[in-house]
Amino acid sequence: MGRRDAAPYSSPVNSSPVIERARELLRTVYGYPGFRGRQEDVVRTVTEGRDALVLMPTGGGKSLCYQLPALLRDGVGVVVSPLIALMQDQVAALRQLGVRASFLNSSLPPREQAEVIGDLAAGRLDLLYLAPERLLQDETLELLGTVRLALIAIDEAHCVSQWGHDFRQDYLGLHVLNERFPGVPRIALTATADARTREEIVGRLRLPRAARFVSGFDRPNIRYAVHAKADAGRQLVDFLEARRGCAGIVYAMTRRRVEDTARMLAERGFDALPYHAGLPSDVRARHQERFLREDGVVMVATIAFGMGIDKPDVRFVAHIDLPKSVESYYQETGRAGRDDEPADAWMIYGLQDVVRLAQMVEQSEADDARKRIERVRLDALLGWCEITECRRRALLQYFGDDLPEDCGNCDICLEPPRTWDGTVEAQKLLSCVYRTGQRFGAGHVIDVLRGKETEKVLARRHERLSTFGIGTDFADTQWRSIVRQLIVQGYLRSDPERFGALSLTRKSRPLLRGDERILLREDASPKRPAKVTRKPDYDLGPEDLPLWEALRARRQELAAAADVPPYVVFHDTTLREMVRVKPASTQELLALHGVGEAKLERYGAAFLEVLADFRAGGGEESVQDLTGG
Ligand code: ADP
Ligand code: ZN
Repeated sequence: MGRRDAAPYSSPVNSSPVIERARELLRTVYGYPGFRGRQEDVVRTVTEGRDALVLMPTGGGKSLCYQLPALLRDGVGVVVSPLIALMQDQVAALRQLGVRASFLNSSLPPREQAEVIGDLAAGRLDLLYLAPERLLQDETLELLGTVRLALIAIDEAHCVSQWGHDFRQDYLGLHVLNERFPGVPRIALTATADARTREEIVGRLRLPRAARFVSGFDRPNIRYAVHAKADAGRQLVDFLEARRGCAGIVYAMTRRRVEDTARMLAERGFDALPYHAGLPSDVRARHQERFLREDGVVMVATIAFGMGIDKPDVRFVAHIDLPKSVESYYQETGRAGRDDEPADAWMIYGLQDVVRLAQMVEQSEADDARKRIERVRLDALLGWCEITECRRRALLQYFGDDLPEDCGNCDICLEPPRTWDGTVEAQKLLSCVYRTGQRFGAGHVIDVLRGKETEKVLARRHERLSTFGIGTDFADTQWRSIVRQLIVQGYLRSDPERFGALSLTRKSRPLLRGDERILLREDASPKRPAKVTRKPDYDLGPEDLPLWEALRARRQELAAAADVPPYVVFHDTTLREMVRVKPASTQELLALHGVGEAKLERYGAAFLEVLADFRAGGGEESVQDLTGG
């Protein structure tokens, strides 16, 4: 691991005939100028008939790795994908490109299934998408035995791993593909990084000879930021205010929080929808559909939402509760900015989260070994939250990837946190924990420190303690920050079995005695305005906005007519190029990023028409309309 690509596109030296043809398709079908990262190597390997294991971050461009070889080789490429709901959009997107793609699943009426099978038998398909359970039916296996297969792609291959949280029983059966279709190259793809999962994939899918392609895990366009949770609702609204009109995901831990947050945001005029496993499946499907098909929907969701969502223009992923681990955090935030445009991964967390997650680990059914792993994972995540160095470097290091220098695009790099000598405050806190008997959570301990005569304080006579009222010069939130940092640094333990009761550790003593000093970070003031993500229209001047809006409106019309999401017609990147270049002919249009031949034919005229209107002066009027003049 650790190979970082110097340029976003690999250079066309060392071309082989296979690669020449692949480049041609890349240009004419997809409208892309070149390969990204390791796509080229993967395409060559699979097209030449060898197995491959591909690890690429979300948004890295895994789909091309099997789509191009499927087009280049004889026969149909079979794609195993876990989520029926998303196959439809993938297939629709391919058809827009002029690729002969279909899917088979139980949602399809029998007559249409028969049609797909007919196409398959007649060799009229380039790609066929299937859920694993469908593929493994005897009937399907027999059917596939009678046609020529170009390759078998196993998407989201980490679903075969029992340790991962996306485990799917049906994936375990996929090893039969090895015996049933011996000469057919298989390619397994995943965004899950760790070595253990990787070996499990190779073992369970029987891919011992697969060439391995591991890309760097950096997502430089994503800006990471973590803040202390103060008033979660207000912090979230401030963050979203600066991103109105952008699509994004807000993750919360419980269904209740999801519902409440979605309602609160809707009341403030955001197009926010809830999504969690407790909602009826038709509601979930409808919300997912709106998120995919409309511009600027904010999905408030539990982790039930997201796998396989390949909407490219998700501008932010916000966590208002701690995710489960660094792995899940990385996977969830990876859903932002697949189009390579600037995006935000924003998180707030507080003491409550820490206690609750630790409780969940302890109360789970898992055996001790598993719990130990979960505890280590939680500690790693907390450590990362409280870090005072470049967040991206630390994140990548966690996955065994080295960033040679600080990233310049995380909260720490942008606003290095100030640290201060917190030894005296830490001592006050630790003694107060000790004097109150190591039986209380942070709330009560802080009340004692701040000299509050609450019922609980009086009932326990804690107003008589020597530590009562010795911490009045610090606010509640500041003390909470200190508690959090002491826990993360191992000076305090929060006992999940006793509702987060704080107790001292072996490390506490030297600090209490003054043999050791401790540096604490100052939490950024929550009042500081959130940094603004550049919107998709970011580098357009005000004079360009009417054209931009007109192109977006045309795209929405075309998408609705074709019953596909707008980005399937053209990405924002392509529309922005239209604004910048103002192409006047099909030839000029074809030169733009994301414009291939099929799309040119389908949509070229419609967009050229909008562009021509603006050249003819239509744009001037719109400017006046917009400015009210
Ligand atoms: P993944 O499955 O790895 O998350 P996708 O295959 O969905 O990623 O690709 C992510 C985005 O990048 C898609 O919008 C895709 O069109 C785009 N993309 C992939 N490869 C290229 C390329 N070589 N040039 C330009 N865009 C690309
Ligand atoms: Zn950084």
